[in-house]
Amino acid sequence: MLCLVQEVLMACDNFEKNLKMCSCTYPCERKGKCCECLHYHRKMRELPACYFSKEAEKTYDRSVEAYLKQKR
Ligand code: SF4
Repeated sequence: MLCLVQEVLMACDNFEKNLKMCSCTYPCERKGKCCECLHYHRKMRELPACYFSKEAEKTYDRSVEAYLKQKR
C-alpha cells in the first residue's frame, strides 16, 4: 500500500491534459492515466479507446479485430 507522499510523487504531470483528450466512455479508474491504460489493454492484447472511432468506442470492444474492422 502506498503512503500519501509516494502517491503525490508518483502523480502524473499530464493527468488533466490526458483526461481532456480521453475519448473513453467506459467508467474506469485508469481514465487520464494513459500509461496504465495502455499497459492494461496491451496485456489483454487490445488497444485503448483512443484508437477507435466514436461509434466503435461505444461498443467497448477493444480487440485488435474490432480495430481492424472499423478500418475496412
Ligand atoms: S481505454 Fe480502457 S483502460 Fe483506458 S480508460 Fe478506457 S476502459 Fe479504462
